[in-house]
Amino acid sequence: MSKFSSKTIFGTCEVCGKKIKKDVYGQGKCPFCGWRNCYLNAEHPDNVLHPNLISLNKAKKLYLEGKAFDPNLDEFLEALHSYGEMQFKYNNICYAVELMGTELNNNLIQLYNANTKEIFVFKNDADFKTNAKIEGKLLKEIWDETTDRYWLQ
Ligand SMILES: [Zn+2]
Repeated sequence: MSKFSSKTIFGTCEVCGKKIKKDVYGQGKCPFCGWRNCYLNAEHPDNVLHPNLISLNKAKKLYLEGKAFDPNLDEFLEALHSYGEMQFKYNNICYAVELMGTELNNNLIQLYNANTKEIFVFKNDADFKTNAKIEGKLLKEIWDETTDRYWLQ
């Protein structure tokens, strides 16, 4: 048996504290709480960073409260600025949200309805948060009913 036969090491989940498998970079999804462990999140516990959609400190708080690691609209937008492209579903319709920077305005946000192919463009985060609508309803008011929020697959 070679001493290089296994690259799996054991570590502690940053959120729930249970013993989990990690790779040599300290990365690994926790099978107990679902947190995607990554040194970047550990180093910046208040920021939304790959591969998660909420910050480490928020995840710890939600874990203690027994809640799911769902991003609110602010965290979704923070993740958008990290990933560039995001998606979510509402009533089984997939929506893509993309940053589309231009020289004059690098904060433009595009909302794409994969069903109707309609595209809506917003000036910036605040415009998106205030005015984005899905099926005639303000996104901020139906956010809790959306699912599958993730970076674009
Ligand atoms: Zn965990």
